[in-house]
Amino acid sequence: MSIVLGAIADDFTGATDLANNLVRAGMRTLQVIGVPQTALALDDVDAVVVALKSRSCPVREAIDDSLAALAWLQAQGARQIFFKYCSTFDSTDAGNIGPVADALLERLGGIQTVMVPAFPVNARTVYQGHLFVGDRLLNDSGMQHHPLNPMTDADLVRVLSRQTPHDVGLLAKSTLAEGTEATRSRLDALHDQGVRHVICDTLDEDDLKVIAAAVAEFPLVTGGSGLGQALPAEYRRLGWLHPVADPGRLAAASGAALVLSGSCSRATLGQVEDFLSRHEGFALDPLALAESDEQIEQALTFARERLFDEESSAPVLIYASAAPEKVKAAQQRLGAARAGELVERALAGLARTLVTEGVGRLVVAGGETSGAVVSALEVTELRIGEQVDPGVPWTQTSIEGREAPLSLALKSGNFGGVDFFSRAFDALSEERGS
Ligand code: ADP
Repeated sequence: MSIVLGAIADDFTGATDLANNLVRAGMRTLQVIGVPQTALALDDVDAVVVALKSRSCPVREAIDDSLAALAWLQAQGARQIFFKYCSTFDSTDAGNIGPVADALLERLGGIQTVMVPAFPVNARTVYQGHLFVGDRLLNDSGMQHHPLNPMTDADLVRVLSRQTPHDVGLLAKSTLAEGTEATRSRLDALHDQGVRHVICDTLDEDDLKVIAAAVAEFPLVTGGSGLGQALPAEYRRLGWLHPVADPGRLAAASGAALVLSGSCSRATLGQVEDFLSRHEGFALDPLALAESDEQIEQALTFARERLFDEESSAPVLIYASAAPEKVKAAQQRLGAARAGELVERALAGLARTLVTEGVGRLVVAGGETSGAVVSALEVTELRIGEQVDPGVPWTQTSIEGREAPLSLALKSGNFGGVDFFSRAFDALSEERGS
């Protein structure tokens, strides 16, 4: 059986965000890290999201990686390709959104595509082609200071025009308000005028539905994860996708429960404090890690004594998360890059050892930290389950040497409610019991 949707995401957490929305909208979804090198079993999969690292890399590399992902997804029979980028349209004047979209469209033999970055539930909207974050224009939202992709212009028609030699047009809210037929006619008219890329206004979920209905049969769509919420209903209407009772169903979870936290964001600090009021934890300190591996050994002993106790299945936490003053002090002594590296290396090594020894349910906090853990565990694919909190689903993956799948929840810094760490495991136990 062929997959319905093949997505190419320009970063890892963005891929998970889209995959999560697809599951919630009724598609059984697999996230793969990089282009798969081996054949995958896709019998019970409706959508595959390929996570690349193509947001800020050189344009040529972004194009090559995206075309390799496209070739693989086409070989799996994908009926539609979705190029996923950030809802704040993170890119520079050189790319990579325009050049990648052009390359994909050309390879697919398509004539037109849409750009739909908006994610209204997260307050990312587009009006008259201008991107808003909450009530601020993009260039006044903090994104103008982004270290890699500073966004200093909120007019997406203008932004994209600097990234592509082709004409860029606008599908305005006034047309969307007239419904799907009017939207289709407008897209056709734009095409007749030679417009290849269409920036779409989007104020709310209804606009997303109208856009999805108009573009479900396009070979290529592009946008943020909001569009991923609306497309599956259209695939069902077209008869491409059959209703699935439980698209986020995972195998039974098993094994000891561990939280590793390398995020120092405000939300994570609250989650660490909340967890420590209920369960036990072990703090890592980059200054001690810089001296020797002794603290890693201590953390291992701490975890082993508690995790592999037959009597108890309580989760434990190992964390480097610390308040800003403490982080700053460590960074002043070691340099920010070295402090971060020491923590990431320690947490990634602990993950590898403890998963080998019997951890089967693992929560990781921090985007960079998650990247380090996933590569230490040599994870190449993640089956997406139910979300614990918005944007953070449980996932499952197979690990060499482990018979049962590993359940993994990867939380980027600011996501999740205050009791996320303990609630995540409750959600999983319930799933196991059902
Ligand atoms: P977030 O998603 O919150 O941004 P990340 O994992 O992406 O979290 O980034 C946090 C960075 O801070 C990581 O590189 C991590 O290794 C580093 N870090 C964690 N704890 C400390 C600490 N106590 N001192 C200095 N750096 C730290």
